[in-house]
Amino acid sequence: MKVLKFGGTSVGTPQRMKDVVKLITDGEQKIVVLSAMSGTTNSLVEISDYLYKKNPEGAQETINALENKYKKHVEELYTTEEMKKQTLDFLKQEFDYLRSFTKGIFTMFEEKIIVGQGEIISTNMVTNYLIEQGYNAALIPALEFMRTDKNSEPDLEYIREKIALQLEAVPGKEIYITQGFICRNAYGEIDNLQRGGSDYTASLIGAAVNASEIQIWTDIDGMHNNDPRFVDKTAPVSHLHFEEAAELAYFGAKILHPTCVQPAKYAGIPVKLLNTMDPSAAGTVISNETEKGKIKAVAAKDNITAIKITSSRMLLAYGFLRKVFEIFETNKTAIDMIATSEVGVSVSIDNTTNLTAIVNELKKFGHVQVDNDMCIICVVGDLESQNVGFESKATEALKNIPVRMISYGGSNHNISFLISASDKKAALQSLSDHLFNN
Ligand code: ADP
Ligand code: ASP
Ligand code: MG
Repeated sequence: MKVLKFGGTSVGTPQRMKDVVKLITDGEQKIVVLSAMSGTTNSLVEISDYLYKKNPEGAQETINALENKYKKHVEELYTTEEMKKQTLDFLKQEFDYLRSFTKGIFTMFEEKIIVGQGEIISTNMVTNYLIEQGYNAALIPALEFMRTDKNSEPDLEYIREKIALQLEAVPGKEIYITQGFICRNAYGEIDNLQRGGSDYTASLIGAAVNASEIQIWTDIDGMHNNDPRFVDKTAPVSHLHFEEAAELAYFGAKILHPTCVQPAKYAGIPVKLLNTMDPSAAGTVISNETEKGKIKAVAAKDNITAIKITSSRMLLAYGFLRKVFEIFETNKTAIDMIATSEVGVSVSIDNTTNLTAIVNELKKFGHVQVDNDMCIICVVGDLESQNVGFESKATEALKNIPVRMISYGGSNHNISFLISASDKKAALQSLSDHLFNN
């Protein structure tokens, strides 16, 4: 069985939904994970923001605008009056439900319910369309099997057991549609896998049903060698190792959710990145194979803060780094990059919730310098130390850019540079020009 995931743009209009249906009705049995129609989750976040700010009128207005948009989609998508009515009734129920939140108290529990409605709507619409067109399809509700544990990590055992029950309940279907992104937490409350999390859903389902392949269908022909939103002349990468894909996703390649690679990697299931707008394009295959001696791609992670601690006490001392890291641990803050010298250590973080506490505690050890508005540029490929010359090519590309930190050797797949966010675009472009475009 294959698992196919279609992102927001891929189901962004009634016509796109019809295009998706063409791609999934080839006679093969499959599970299809859908995101919300593009823009919908943002609107739902906006509604929640209004309600947090005690502005029910603002929320009502956004709900009404969204409802009107969806009503038009119904006209365009279905041909039979019966299915139009059935879907309009469903939408009325959905939007009345959303409106019910504008009256009572509003907390993060209600917010989680609201932001998940986009996927509930899109999957119902596509399933109704499939059934109207006579295909053998069924909807299996993600909230019945997708679950996280007490550490907010997916509970793969539970998912495996419960999705099997869901599939058994409607046996022999060609197409099983389900929602990306949404889940229940350890307490049974409605929750989600973070923004962009539908990729993660697909990969978890793939691992749970031991799929032969996981396909992530989006609006671009695979992972490009640099971020196409900032750089001219990027090109698709035909093949990536799981580790390379994970590093690129974690360091900002938006095409993949950062945690999505893990379940597929552990289960040894290849992941393909494919383009709904150009289905015959080769895309990117992510698997356990490494292409020797190649730099694959560059990505950038925003909103990074750098912290440097300098102390003469570090000189020839042992235990200093442990004390420094403990401060980050007790403040539940993950470190991305690290560089050390005899008299100091620099780290970068992306979560500044506890920055003040961290800095105050670090000051006990020495002088502390904080730099905000930084970004990490990450060059990914087969960067084993025997492959000479790659580091110099990357540093040569950045010769005109002030670099605050460099990290190399932590894995065989990456070299990272910490630079000011204002230099990001120039750095990405120059890396493309030096590494790929000559
Ligand atoms: P979906 O809604 O299908 O999940 P996303 O918007 O999350 O799609 O991801 C696709 C987008 O990721 C592309 O349109 C592109 O702008 C962006 N992107 C960023 N970096 C890369 C990259 N290295 N390769 C391909 N796409 C990238
Ligand atoms: N709809 C959710 C979002 O916009 C999840 C996803 O698209 O992956 O973040
Ligand atoms: Mg996405």
